[in-house]
Amino acid sequence: MSDAVFQVRELAVSYGAARVIENVNVDVAAGEIVGVVGPNGAGKTTTLRAISGLVARRRGSVMLNGVTLAERPEAVARAGIAHVPEGRGLIPSLTVHQNLRLAAIGAGRRLSDEDVRYATTVFPAIERLMDRRAGFLSGGEQQMVAISRGLVARPTILMVDELSLGLAPRIVKDMSRALRRVAGERRIGIFLVDQNVRGLSHVCDRIYVLQDGVSSVANKEDTELMRAVYFGRSG
Ligand code: ATP
Repeated sequence: MSDAVFQVRELAVSYGAARVIENVNVDVAAGEIVGVVGPNGAGKTTTLRAISGLVARRRGSVMLNGVTLAERPEAVARAGIAHVPEGRGLIPSLTVHQNLRLAAIGAGRRLSDEDVRYATTVFPAIERLMDRRAGFLSGGEQQMVAISRGLVARPTILMVDELSLGLAPRIVKDMSRALRRVAGERRIGIFLVDQNVRGLSHVCDRIYVLQDGVSSVANKEDTELMRAVYFGRSG
């Protein structure tokens, strides 16, 4: 799509001799929510890690606002891509506030009162948790903090790996509503990968399917395709 602020082109990654992704192409526009679905082991997490410079690419490029990004995690973060990893990436022994502060520093900024205010506007439940250690929070609370870490980085693109993993459907719904809100209010482009195809198709504007290492644009109303992806059948 022509108004994409984020463009992934011909991304390929191998682990040793194993070719995991072969040709992944993704576009995300400002304020758009885009998802990638695919069976277990399809390479969804690998795609996000390759974008962030956490695994080496065999081929491919990542562009943000027309600039090709270097393959280094600090450079990618500072350029404006926030990555909420699988497992959420919080430092359990630090408080919520300290986790937010570190996230801002990772993006080359200093945490401001406005950052904290916005995170607690989007996720009111974390306001009273600021001085609690992240490791003692519930799964849903941890996911709110993880996404807040992404928000305080003030990104152009927010990538979330497995938004719904281990969360009750009601919490996933709240989380999806929160993402829709930040996409609208802050014009952040959101890039999600998830096993939960149905949940993803509700929140996303567009969806790609990742199968046999190749991404393709999917029709999210195509329930047969979505079912096939969910059960890991290709073709
Ligand atoms: P899931 O939905 O199960 O989380 P995924 O689509 O996110 O899967 P990846 O985690 O990207 O898939 O893994 C893709 C493939 O690469 C899998 O076969 C996995 O075993 C393999 N893989 C992942 N990380 C490594 C690694 N560091 N070294 C070797 N192989 C790896």
